Amino acid sequence: MIDFKSDGHVHTRLCHHARGEMEEYVLAAIARGLDELIFLEHLEKGVNYIESTWLSEDDFAYYHREGRRLKEKYQAKIKVGVGIEVGYNPRRQEEILDFLNRYPWDRIGISYHFYEIGGKHYNFVSRKEYNTLAFGAVGVDKVISHYLAGLLDAVNLLPGTVLCHLDAVLRYHPEVCFGREHELIINEIFRAMLSKGMALEINTSGIALRGQPFPAANFIRVAMAMGIPLVAGSDAHRPDDVGRYFSRIAEFC
Ligand SMILES: [Zn+2]
Ligand SMILES: [Zn+2]
Repeated sequence: MIDFKSDGHVHTRLCHHARGEMEEYVLAAIARGLDELIFLEHLEKGVNYIESTWLSEDDFAYYHREGRRLKEKYQAKIKVGVGIEVGYNPRRQEEILDFLNRYPWDRIGISYHFYEIGGKHYNFVSRKEYNTLAFGAVGVDKVISHYLAGLLDAVNLLPGTVLCHLDAVLRYHPEVCFGREHELIINEIFRAMLSKGMALEINTSGIALRGQPFPAANFIRVAMAMGIPLVAGSDAHRPDDVGRYFSRIAEFC
């Protein structure tokens, strides 16, 4: 069963597109009565994008120092974890693995945010026109297939412990729908996760955006029937969003 007292996916100002210090997130989690908070900051390697939405090497050094301080300071009130949301890049597997080996991680979340077109990267989960127009030109169906195939490789190749926001791809493209072919790849991803003991994240940022978590209820039910463990994550990008909508998760399981 899902632990609703644990938020396993929050960001901080360190990734440049979230607000708030790490300590503010810990205080928000305590105020909401959570037992556990896991930071899951963004790692990307070799991405050529219009802005940096991930941590630098120095940022990660600070992140771990501050994480250790907060773990100790608040240990009587809440369990604090330092994890990482790994953005897959099919061209940089070795570099990603080398980086992961440099630190201990309380959680390794697998995501796939950036897609390469002609040497430039575009963000699968962004609402910016820069991205949505580029994906529209490639073709939404094709982009979803590439995204899911990449996720399957990431699950197989990286030491992930949780798969994040599975069907968040092209979430700002109104015409998006998953076809039979996409569902087959998702089933393959679930089988790979099961064999590695990976959990599936119920990402409640989707409830704010589309009234359903990521992934949608039909995928959650398939994963549950297969015996894949589920974990809850708010994907908070500001302290106020820690633990958001956790009381509604049961509606989708
Ligand atoms: Zn983010
Ligand atoms: Zn995230």
